[in-house]
Amino acid sequence: MSPRHPALVWLRDDLRLADNPALRAAVDGDRPVVVLYVLDEQSREIRPLGGATRWWLHHSLTALQQRLEERGGSLVLRRGTAEDVIPAVVAETHAEAVFWNRRYGAAREIDARLKTRLRDDGIEVASFSANLLVEPWEVTTGQGEPFKVFTPFWKAAQERPFRDAVPEPREIEGHRADGDRLDDWGLLPTHPNWAGGLRETWEPGELGARHRLEEFVEDRLADYHRRDEPAVDATSGLSPHLRFGEISPIQIWDRLHGPLDGGALRNRAKFLSEVGWREFNHSILFQQPRLHRDSFRPEWDAFPWEKPHAAELDAWKQGRTGIPLVDAGMRELWHSGVMHNRVRMVTASFLVKNLLVDWRVGEAWFWDTLVDADEASNPGNWQWVAGSGADAAPYFRVFNPELQREKFDKHDRYVKRWVPELGTDEYPDPIVDLKQSRQAALDAYQHLRNS
Ligand code: FAD
Repeated sequence: MSPRHPALVWLRDDLRLADNPALRAAVDGDRPVVVLYVLDEQSREIRPLGGATRWWLHHSLTALQQRLEERGGSLVLRRGTAEDVIPAVVAETHAEAVFWNRRYGAAREIDARLKTRLRDDGIEVASFSANLLVEPWEVTTGQGEPFKVFTPFWKAAQERPFRDAVPEPREIEGHRADGDRLDDWGLLPTHPNWAGGLRETWEPGELGARHRLEEFVEDRLADYHRRDEPAVDATSGLSPHLRFGEISPIQIWDRLHGPLDGGALRNRAKFLSEVGWREFNHSILFQQPRLHRDSFRPEWDAFPWEKPHAAELDAWKQGRTGIPLVDAGMRELWHSGVMHNRVRMVTASFLVKNLLVDWRVGEAWFWDTLVDADEASNPGNWQWVAGSGADAAPYFRVFNPELQREKFDKHDRYVKRWVPELGTDEYPDPIVDLKQSRQAALDAYQHLRNS
């Protein structure tokens, strides 16, 4: 009998066993399976992870490794450019097939080159839809153009048939290959170890994701209409799990169409439309693969941003601006690796409009500190706040952080949690006058319009 050659599954942002079409295809092929994760910090198409996502990745890979081993498989870890590592592992293991789930940013250029190269070498290659409800190119206007506005996009997306979730493999015939030790990758912070708050808040990995979804549907979805109040625990907390593909949007969609009580049912459409914003941002990323660098609306490249003033920027990062809602949000971010959505909008608007700092500077800080930092949703939302993005908030609509606080955190419950010294001598005075800085932003915008 001829030796059975393995199939290689290359995992990226899809660190799960359930509803993983690439893994399923490999297991169904009745071949041994090499499951590989590549830490690629060198390819120019890949944006190096920030500190918080490195922390998450470490724990997510640990969880995945364990689940694979329970089923007879194993996880091979390699570091280097994907275009070096994948062909090398194929050669070492004599793999005859390579499978992966698709990605949508600049890294897809790597995937396209690899696909051609491997096929030229006679290797079977297949890529799958796994991390979105619909592929970006499947949702287009009547004229076949991509949508630039959310509402018609989401309507059209929901008219598409979604793929069925694929079942989790019970057994995996693992094929070993040489790899690195996860600890040697140094993904965790050491000096100083700032990850204590992250550990308290999160359980990375597929089981943590499933647990979060179930708990949200049962305990919090009924309160989702209060999702704009940062002191109320009414949202899912699924964003980092989705970011790393520990759960798929199809699994979420299916669960939301399973048993729900009345309160949950009333909030379902709204919640799913937020998942729709994730889809929309990915479709924008697909149109503009370097979304963290390039304005989606190019005329914005002429905007007269001010050179960031180091002291002001530090005050923003550290939550010492003297504007309570902004400071609360920035401290929540530093402690827990996330920030409530409404407060993200307020802190971003404050940086971009009251301090007139280029959105890319704020986006980079969020990229480093958010556990859900995502190459579609982070720049997509920053550009939305700045005005340069798709379906963006108009620049002249400047959030007033004090009015936002009155409206959404009336009793200062959220603000007091993160800024306990509020109202004492220890709390700083505002670093800018909100009214004057708003006017300066409007003048700068007028300059852009006239140019
Ligand atoms: P829920 O309200 O439970 O929503 C469910 C899911 O829908 C989320 O997990 C997320 O995947 C998706 N979602 C919700 N709102 C949005 C949105 N506005 N855009 C895209 N997807 C959305 N989200 C990220 O996942 N990664 C980011 O890097 C990111 N950066 C942001 C930066 C700024 C300046 C702003 C204003 C928003 C950003 N968001 C980002 C969107 C949003 O704030 C988070 O998705 C949300 O707070 C996550 O909490 P949750 O999972 O409890 O959300």
